[in-house]
Amino acid sequence: MSNIIYPTTNFTATEQLTIDRGEGVYVYDSNGKQYLEGLAGLWCTSLGYGNRELIDTASEQMGKLAYSHMFGGKTHRVGQELAERLREMVPVENAKVFFGNSGSDANDTHIKLLHYYFAAIGKPQKRKIIARERSYHGVTVAAASLTGLPVNQTNFDLPVEALGILRTDAPHYYRGALPGESEAQFVERITNNLEQLILREAPETIAAFIAEPITGASGVIVPPAGYYEKVQAILNKYDILFWADEVITGFGRTGHDFGSTTVGIESPALMTLAKQLSSAYMPISASVIRGDLYEAMIEPSNKLGVFGHGYTYSGHPVACAVALKVMEIYQRDNIFERAAKMGDYLQRRLAEFRDHPLVGEVRGRGLIGAVELVADKATGKAFVDGSVGAFAQRACERHGLILRAVAGSSLAFCPPLIITEAQIDEMIEKFGKALADTQ
Ligand code: PLP
Repeated sequence: MSNIIYPTTNFTATEQLTIDRGEGVYVYDSNGKQYLEGLAGLWCTSLGYGNRELIDTASEQMGKLAYSHMFGGKTHRVGQELAERLREMVPVENAKVFFGNSGSDANDTHIKLLHYYFAAIGKPQKRKIIARERSYHGVTVAAASLTGLPVNQTNFDLPVEALGILRTDAPHYYRGALPGESEAQFVERITNNLEQLILREAPETIAAFIAEPITGASGVIVPPAGYYEKVQAILNKYDILFWADEVITGFGRTGHDFGSTTVGIESPALMTLAKQLSSAYMPISASVIRGDLYEAMIEPSNKLGVFGHGYTYSGHPVACAVALKVMEIYQRDNIFERAAKMGDYLQRRLAEFRDHPLVGEVRGRGLIGAVELVADKATGKAFVDGSVGAFAQRACERHGLILRAVAGSSLAFCPPLIITEAQIDEMIEKFGKALADTQ
């Protein structure tokens, strides 16, 4: 064992795969064995590995200006161009952009922007945030408080209450519906719960509602039809901002440019971007807010004082240059349209596992999906621990496929957006073999 403390392991864990290099949708371990990267790293390497244009862009930018900060308005051209490009792309009106390094720190930034904004408009008591059960918003102390997964909260004394974080239902029909409840009734019940929560807590104390349009890390949950329409109507009624955490769903992942577009979220007030923003070639994130929120802070900031927040690497020029090139490639090569077509194909192929005796539910949209393994297909009874998921993940690896077991026993699929039909076939074939080993 090396002396690395590994993320998301218990300390008895042994070292697993040693990944050595990557090319296209494949990675190779230290013995030269090839794996199809079915999770695009951690839902992020959208353009695959070894992309020469991105490598050259990073290298050129390092040669030109390897670092410059953005504190106090110091700036650079690639940062400005990237922010402008994002303004053109995102479904957030007249977007303003704050750069960070990761999805977690971008969510922390949003919490501070919300506090600052509501103080600026004279409503400092409006600062609670509604987050959902089984959501994933990152692991910094504040972001982990938003996250609704016990694994990221147990053993830590997180400031969930101090930050005013409220919890509402996960929109997962398969796991959350009452016996005999239709999808429409389920949506009605959980959105009614949301409204009751808002009324109980007092709307004038609630700033925002955060949601991943389609959840990723908690098992790829696609809400039933009508869910977001109802949620948005409730939020509008009580003057609560919609905050779309698009760290996984941003940039062509779900069959459209953004997950918000796919599920019909109209003009979110805040949006969090990371991962596919740079195809993971450099760490970079963006906390995006609607222009009118920004405008409202300008004058009052003379009285409030500086927005005392910023990271050393906010707007890192190499990360900005790479992200800008990624945006160019997305557009030039019609990556989102291609991914939408491949996404339809992936969903059709994944659906073939619906009848498998180990499979409880197959779900997904575009190039993201999950196959949930269950102890009893007829009742949907879950396995008591996550060991079956971990076992299936290892079986996939033996067959040369990297997937990730999430939420216990769901195997998540999220291949690079550049995957071809033949490579999807290869992924499905390998997964089928792994499932046979798991029975
Ligand atoms: N938000 C969402 C929706 C995510 O899926 C993730 C990571 O998977 C994060 C935030 C945290 O991002 P990071 O791991 O870059 O901090």
